[in-house]
Amino acid sequence: MKKFQKQLEVLVFQDLNGHFRMQNINEIEDLIKIISKLPGLGPKSAKRIVLKLINNKEELVKPLAATLAQVYKNVTRCNFCGSLKSNLYGCNNCQIKKKFDKICVVEDIADQWSIENSKIFQGYFHILGGTIASVGQRKEDLLINSLVDRVVKEDINEVILATSATVEGQTTAYYIQDSLKNTKAKVTKLAQGLPVGGEIESLDDGTLFSAFKNRSNLNTNSE
Ligand SMILES: [Zn+2]
Repeated sequence: MKKFQKQLEVLVFQDLNGHFRMQNINEIEDLIKIISKLPGLGPKSAKRIVLKLINNKEELVKPLAATLAQVYKNVTRCNFCGSLKSNLYGCNNCQIKKKFDKICVVEDIADQWSIENSKIFQGYFHILGGTIASVGQRKEDLLINSLVDRVVKEDINEVILATSATVEGQTTAYYIQDSLKNTKAKVTKLAQGLPVGGEIESLDDGTLFSAFKNRSNLNTNSE
């Protein structure tokens, strides 16, 4: 009984079946609701996370709150390449000293990380931050004008469209291809070996490698 009361002090406890039970505390419920919105987490895992957090306030909640505040304050999207940047240090993508003649267009920064990890591609990245058909996505947010500027200013020879093999991804690729028609850059698209509905981020290195290697030229008709 004493042990039970002790656990009640933290307001979260496991019942005999190992299920977490919580009292209705607004702060905790709000936190669970927010955490369950994160990718890969449902209400059950969110409860476990919250339990871990409130049992480790000094070690976890305090630094987490401070880090979140820093991220909220300092991390923003780069208006030029679409990547994330710290306002304190600037954009990593835009500060690359190396000169490349290729640029790879991806939907998400996680796609860039996958492609970088696979070491398949050496060049610049442009992060759209979504697709044209994404709900609530405005065309201007995809930074396509900025992409066209970059292609011209950086004297880019090839623009590789690495959008997902979804209808939205392919519509976006078509729109970008059309926007680039007055530049001299060759526009290519990852090979159709991509699984239908495949998101770049979730592809293994082998599939990504063959998609890059077999990329098709989209402006063969205009040459
Ligand atoms: Zn940038």
